[in-house]
Amino acid sequence: MDIKRNILLNPGPSTTTDTVKMAQVVPDICPREKEFAGIMAPMRDDLVRIVHGDTKEYTAVLFCGSGTICIDVALNSLLAEGKKALIINNGSYSQRACDVCKYYNMPLVEIKQPIDDKPDLSVIEKALKENKDIGYVYVTYHETGTGLLNPVREIGTLAHRYGAFLITDTTSAYAMIPINVYEDNIDFCMASAQKGIMGMTGLSYIIGKRDIIEQSKNYPKRSYYCNLYMQYEYFESTGEMHFTPPVQTIYAAKQALIEYFEESEEEKWKRHTRVMNAIRKGIDDLGLREALRREVQAGLVAAVEYPDDPGWDFEKIHDYCYERGFTIYPGKMQNKGTFRLCALGAIDEGDIKDFWKVFEEALGFVGVSVPVKYDMQR
Ligand SMILES: *Cc1c(COP(=O)(O)O)cnc(C)c1O
Repeated sequence: MDIKRNILLNPGPSTTTDTVKMAQVVPDICPREKEFAGIMAPMRDDLVRIVHGDTKEYTAVLFCGSGTICIDVALNSLLAEGKKALIINNGSYSQRACDVCKYYNMPLVEIKQPIDDKPDLSVIEKALKENKDIGYVYVTYHETGTGLLNPVREIGTLAHRYGAFLITDTTSAYAMIPINVYEDNIDFCMASAQKGIMGMTGLSYIIGKRDIIEQSKNYPKRSYYCNLYMQYEYFESTGEMHFTPPVQTIYAAKQALIEYFEESEEEKWKRHTRVMNAIRKGIDDLGLREALRREVQAGLVAAVEYPDDPGWDFEKIHDYCYERGFTIYPGKMQNKGTFRLCALGAIDEGDIKDFWKVFEEALGFVGVSVPVKYDMQR
């Protein structure tokens, strides 16, 4: 087999192994066959095991869709009548969660916090004190637009102290940063197969507490297709997804999970950290600057500021790198030109060293001098 290997430094989908790619090539099968349900049942347990949940207490519910489907499903399905959602809004993904609540006309307490620093826990506590009717607190674990790591454990403690449960969007951390649902006070988290487990696009999952899902049976139904209890109940009674699953993506995910447990949680996180260190070394060597202090980052995404050089042209630099097998990605910060370099996927530090050679060539190609310059001193 000879598939070109591209190094994706965008925030997902990520570079995959050839064995995961090839796992999609299977005989045609109707997903209503028992054989197919037999693939999904252990997969659901494995997805709970990744975050160290007990499968009697926690379950994984699979959906056919990109990661955003989980944000939508979790938020709209888990809010009881008369309760409010509380969302910590400090980046583009938590903004998306706020938008979901607004689209469903759900009562929302939105706590805006800076996008480049840790949120203020006292503001969150004050909001919980003032609003006695919060159903759940929602926070993005790792804000992929900036690389910010949120203090989920502490926010979970606060949520529980005031009688709410915690939902966190772990899409860009799950199966990368070691997560333990008990230690991290997580009632619900979520991810997508194209990110941490290094599978394909089209399969996403919510991992959460069975008893809360059972309770949500009687919560207002705000969506027909995107309802957590409906999908959970269908899985529990038939072993299947309610509607057509992404068949080939599930075969790829099965292989990706085998490779995940082979590599191990600890070794995988070490590898992502090696990749990030190599990314940071290149940033420092070229005089590039990051938008966030490294102490507040999750260590998986670097948001790099555009240098102040008349030759700088993101599109041209992107295209130069892309033609040589490396994908860099635009940033997601308002009022600031940034691009992102992400440490996801089946890559290692050698790939990043190769990338920086090509990137430096690209700077020469567009006429940006090295080390790069910034007008404003910090
Ligand atoms: C990638 C990602 C998602 C899902 O985004 P899609 O565009 O639906 O794939 C959700 N949350 C976070 C934090 C992410 O990084």
